[in-house]
Amino acid sequence: MEMIDRLGVSPLPRNYHLFYICLSSTDQRLRGAVRALGNSPSQADLDDVIEKFVPEAMGSTYMRRHQDDVLRNLEGVLSKLNVDQLEAANFTGAVNKVSESLANQQDPNKIPPETLMKVAEAMVEAGRRKVVAGNKTISQVETHVDELGKLRNEIERLRLIANTDELTRLANRRSFDESLAMVYSNESRNSFGLVMLDIDHFKSINDTHGHAGGDEVLRVVAKCLRGSMRQDTVVARTGGEEFAIILKKTNIEEVRRAAERIREAVEKLGIITRHEGKSRKVTVSVGAAMADDAETPQALYELADAALYCSKETGRNRVTLSGELGTHSTERFLMYKKG
Ligand code: GH3
Ligand code: MG
Ligand code: MG
Repeated sequence: MEMIDRLGVSPLPRNYHLFYICLSSTDQRLRGAVRALGNSPSQADLDDVIEKFVPEAMGSTYMRRHQDDVLRNLEGVLSKLNVDQLEAANFTGAVNKVSESLANQQDPNKIPPETLMKVAEAMVEAGRRKVVAGNKTISQVETHVDELGKLRNEIERLRLIANTDELTRLANRRSFDESLAMVYSNESRNSFGLVMLDIDHFKSINDTHGHAGGDEVLRVVAKCLRGSMRQDTVVARTGGEEFAIILKKTNIEEVRRAAERIREAVEKLGIITRHEGKSRKVTVSVGAAMADDAETPQALYELADAALYCSKETGRNRVTLSGELGTHSTERFLMYKKG
């Protein structure tokens, strides 16, 4: 802390983190990099060192740096507006003073015309300066607003990257978990459900078409799922060859129909692969559950997963609803998961 104070470094948690690591480490490269920052390092230089040597802070440092930029720009806008406000107050004060002293004259006719002329000229000049200052403030604020717009776009771009599965462009597991938690807090539990899908014998697809071919199948199936659902429906790739779909404002019958429609759509893609020496179409097994049977997102996930496992066990390329599972089957599934 003493070092941070001495170097004039901002008291941000990530800066403390860097200096703590630096002082408690024997890494000469890190120590050298911190020494090379000099006596009054800029935050940008500090962040470069943090990104390089404190990898656990990497992702969030990048976002934080943008947040810092946003704050800096907002502070800029505020300080310009404050200066402007002060000038406006001074100007109003001066105008009030002049009008008060004129009003206090017993006989206004006694004020010499040259004095009135001078007062008028001074007020016109003050007004002109006020307009110039105002225009300058407007252009400075516009620059900040422009800068904020760019930062907002950049933050939006990063948010999209963080929530998107790179291979299929579907929502990723992180974003899916967030969406499901959101649905649990906003919707009534009897109005939504979860459909989970797993591509059948995917290992054989990789064996037949190579890993790149397997990737292409993942992309094509993902596109088919996305195309089968409304644009505002969350369709996610939750694992290697596993997908999940959150269905809102629905009931068990609609969930069953949607699940069946998706299963059929994938089969109709007609992608041919080989499994155990025979040609077969690429298919998916599907499990679905309604949220009224599950108190938490995790419980819903497990129910749909148990139903999916049942579809696998009973022949694949089929749909199972969690309501069709006996407790026996769920227990077996959970044992299989633990085992
Ligand atoms: P099942 O019908 O029981 O689901 O059999 P499966 O072969 O589909 O399932 P399993 O879990 O045994 O194998 C899944 C395979 O998916 C194993 C893994 O190598 C492959 N895989 C996982 N992620 C990817 C990926 O991103 N690309 C490719 N090409 N393959 C992947
Ligand atoms: Mg599979
Ligand atoms: Mg799987």
